[in-house]
Amino acid sequence: DDGDHVPALVIGSGYGGAVTALRLTRAGIATVVVEMGMAWNTAGPDGRIFCDMLNPDRRSYWLRTRTDQPVGYFLGIDANKPIGRYTGVLDAERFAGIRVYQGRGVGGGSLVNGGIAVLPRRDYFAEILPSVDVTAMYDTYFPRATAALGVNAIDTAWFETADCYRYARVSRDQARASGFATTFLGNVYDFDYMKQEQAGTVTRSALGSEVIYGNNHGKRSLDKTYLAAAAATGRLSITAQHMVTAVAPASLGGYAVTMNQLDTTGATIAVKTVRADRVFFAAGSVGTSKLLVAMRAQGRLPDLPGAVGQGWGNNGNVMVARAQHLWNTTGALQSGMPAMGIDNWADPAGPVFAEIAPFPAGAELWISLYLAITKNPNRAGFAYDSSTGTVGLTWQTAQNQPAVTAAKRVFDKINKAQLTVYRSDLFGGDKVWGDDFTYHPLGGCVLGQATDDYGRLPGYPGLYVMDGSLIPGSTGVNPFVTITALAERNIEKVIATDVG
Ligand code: FAD
Repeated sequence: DDGDHVPALVIGSGYGGAVTALRLTRAGIATVVVEMGMAWNTAGPDGRIFCDMLNPDRRSYWLRTRTDQPVGYFLGIDANKPIGRYTGVLDAERFAGIRVYQGRGVGGGSLVNGGIAVLPRRDYFAEILPSVDVTAMYDTYFPRATAALGVNAIDTAWFETADCYRYARVSRDQARASGFATTFLGNVYDFDYMKQEQAGTVTRSALGSEVIYGNNHGKRSLDKTYLAAAAATGRLSITAQHMVTAVAPASLGGYAVTMNQLDTTGATIAVKTVRADRVFFAAGSVGTSKLLVAMRAQGRLPDLPGAVGQGWGNNGNVMVARAQHLWNTTGALQSGMPAMGIDNWADPAGPVFAEIAPFPAGAELWISLYLAITKNPNRAGFAYDSSTGTVGLTWQTAQNQPAVTAAKRVFDKINKAQLTVYRSDLFGGDKVWGDDFTYHPLGGCVLGQATDDYGRLPGYPGLYVMDGSLIPGSTGVNPFVTITALAERNIEKVIATDVG
């Protein structure tokens, strides 16, 4: 029994999934979105939907009994805390050589991320995805994406005076004084709301140490933008707390999609199957790659190309912190939404685009934190383990050395010019470089390699990939605008030629 029949089923409700859902429903197609995480729309006993970074509770992490913070130590001491096991909003998914942070819930990564909305450099986009018409991307699909995402620009005069961006001004001024260019970053967080937070007239969110475990106010996450617009068509249905485990051709035509209904402890309380004419994989770089690699290995989709599961990268992510002099305070109040970056991408010896990241500890710590995006050429692949039935990732921590080397060129120079030093107490074992985790998983089902030039999976009409797995491991900036715009381009083609 292949269960209920639906015309279109989307696996995952992050950027790729939300774009797909809006465009399909607007085209008149009834669409079901299946999301393993929760619908974060109900307040807990404390009156809030999400917890903050200073007081993480069970809502913070996906099925863990202890937090797993990106910056896991302070003064060399483990800063993580016990929590209740729950289907929380942030997953720190552990593979052999890397932790991959991902959002879990209706809205995917948009629930937990820093909201930074940046277009990739045009020449770099042309380099990574040579089969895509660059003019159409920059004239049509990037503008369409930024408008629908609700990207806004910071009031730069306000930025110069706001207490909550003192940390960014200090880092910017020192970068400039050390010979580097800096740039403001667009964001989907409502900067007018943030101004009111700074003025003390509304409930604080970005200024209340809210980021990575969700924002209770101010953030234009996908549930408030793309998914809300899709719901307004009356043709969207979202099934939360259901994890897709299998997709295979159905005897009656289309595909049988099998899923586990989860309770909040992560236990399976029901197994269901739905038959769909078209299935859109939008479970994120890791989720889509794992599912497709498992389906190929298990013989359910045996003809998937060898490129499925290959070409995965971490967008060259590496985190680092500098210790400031006592007279260079970074501020006890720090906006969780970054607004400024150091742009040294044009340096051929080691391109770096570094976001000036907050350290929203609620106390003066004299720490300047950065998330550097580099052009690390190393890639990895997903592999099925038949003995456990799980999918691993071949990435080794040492593969991130090119990212460290590139970032070191920038921050060594800043430290030398400013007479400052690195913090070595934040990443465990006296490490200076947070080189063993990523916020930006990309690739695994690369456009034009694992799929055709519009995300169609060869050999399986009606199966599509629509998320960050299409991007070959790097986009040179924070990736969600690239993922959104590429999905806009691909779904437009699919609706025009395949559907209806
Ligand atoms: P996702 O957004 O990850 O969505 C995939 C969805 O599929 C998830 O909701 C997941 O739960 C669901 N799913 C997975 N497997 C299954 C399954 N088997 N069945 C059902 N559902 C499934 N990017 C930026 O551009 N700017 C930033 O400021 C920024 N900050 C970040 C900060 C953090 C802490 C993190 C973790 C990420 C950040 N990112 C940022 C990255 C950005 O959020 C991701 O690149 C983006 O969310 C990826 O979009 P996607 O559509 O590929 O997948």
